[in-house]
Amino acid sequence: MSEGLRLMAVHAHPDDESSKGAASTAMYAASGAEVMVVSCTGGERGDVLNPRLQHAPEIERDMPEVRRREMAAAARILGVQHTWLGFVDSGLPEGDPLPPLPHGCFALEPLEVTTEALVRVIRDFRPHVLTTYDENGGYPHPDHIMTHTVSMSAFEAAGDPLAYPHAGPPWQPQKLYYSGFSPQRLRKLHQAMLDAGMESPFLEWIERMSTWPERAIHTHIACSDYFEVRDEALRAHATQVDPDGHWFKIPMDLQHRVHPSEDYELARSLVPVELPEDDLFAGLAPLTELEEVCARPPERDGDGKLLLAHRSQVPPPVEQVEVEQLDGAAGDDAADDDAGREQEEQAS
Ligand SMILES: [Zn+2]
Repeated sequence: MSEGLRLMAVHAHPDDESSKGAASTAMYAASGAEVMVVSCTGGERGDVLNPRLQHAPEIERDMPEVRRREMAAAARILGVQHTWLGFVDSGLPEGDPLPPLPHGCFALEPLEVTTEALVRVIRDFRPHVLTTYDENGGYPHPDHIMTHTVSMSAFEAAGDPLAYPHAGPPWQPQKLYYSGFSPQRLRKLHQAMLDAGMESPFLEWIERMSTWPERAIHTHIACSDYFEVRDEALRAHATQVDPDGHWFKIPMDLQHRVHPSEDYELARSLVPVELPEDDLFAGLAPLTELEEVCARPPERDGDGKLLLAHRSQVPPPVEQVEVEQLDGAAGDDAADDDAGREQEEQAS
C-alpha cells in the first residue's frame, strides 16, 4: 500500500532506530515503502549494558565494529536500509561539574559540516517524509539534541538549489516528524499493569516525565503487528540492552490492547493536513506528481524560510531536566548510562 513512497528516519546512535518508531518503520517497509535509517554517529562511546556480555574481551577490543554488526542485524530485522552519517559519538557527559565534550565529537562539529552530510544523504535517497527528535532531543543527550538541530537545518536546506550545490540535486521532503517518548503510552501501560495486578516498572519514569514539556501528538501509527519485530531488532543490539530488562516483560497482549500504535508529532508540513492523522504520508500529492513536487524548489517567505502549511507549537518551557536527574531511572537494570536510558525509551 506504500509502494513508491520513501521514509527517512534520522537517529543519533545505532539502537535508537530500534527503540523509537521502530515498529512503524518496520510496518512501512513491509507494506512496500522504502525506509532508510540514518545513524548520525557510530555509537563508539556506548558501554556494554548487557550483563551477560560485560568484560568480554572480543567486544571490548573493537566496540565500533561490534556496534556496526549489531546495527546491520537490526536493519535486517526491521527490513530497512541503513546508512551512517559518519560522525563520532559525543558520549553522555557525567559528573559535577560536567566534563567538556570530547574533541571532534558529533555535537561539536560545525553545523554546516553535519548539515551538508545529511543534505547529501537526503538528496541521494530522496525521502518524501523525514523523522527526527524534538528540540530537547527526546531526552537530554548532546547527540540527540544535535540530531534534532541537524535534521531541522537539512530539512530547510535540502530543497534549496543554492545550498550545498555539490551535495546533489535539490530534494524537498514534504513533512518532518518528531518521534520519541510517549508519556501518554507510558501512563496507559502503567495503569493497565496495575489493573492486571502486575508490578509496573514505570512509576519512576512517570514522575520524572511530569517535569518534561508535554509534546503534542498528531499522528498515531497503528503498528502493533510489528511490536515483536521492534523487540527483536532492539535485542540485536546485544551489547546495548539487557535482554532480561523489564521492557521486554510487558505482556504483548497488554501492549496490543492498551496502546497499539506509535505516536508522532508533526513538526513541519509543506502540505495541508487534517490532524490527528494515522499515516506519515497523509496529505501528500499522488505518487505520479510527488517526485516532481519534491524536486521543485519549495516556496519560501521573505526571510528565505520554507512556507509551511503546518508547524507544531513548541511547548511552554518547564524546569530544565538535568541529566543527573535521570540517573538510576532504570531501577535495578544495568542501565546506568546513555543507551540504557534509551532502552528505557523503548516505550516511546
Ligand atoms: Zn541515542
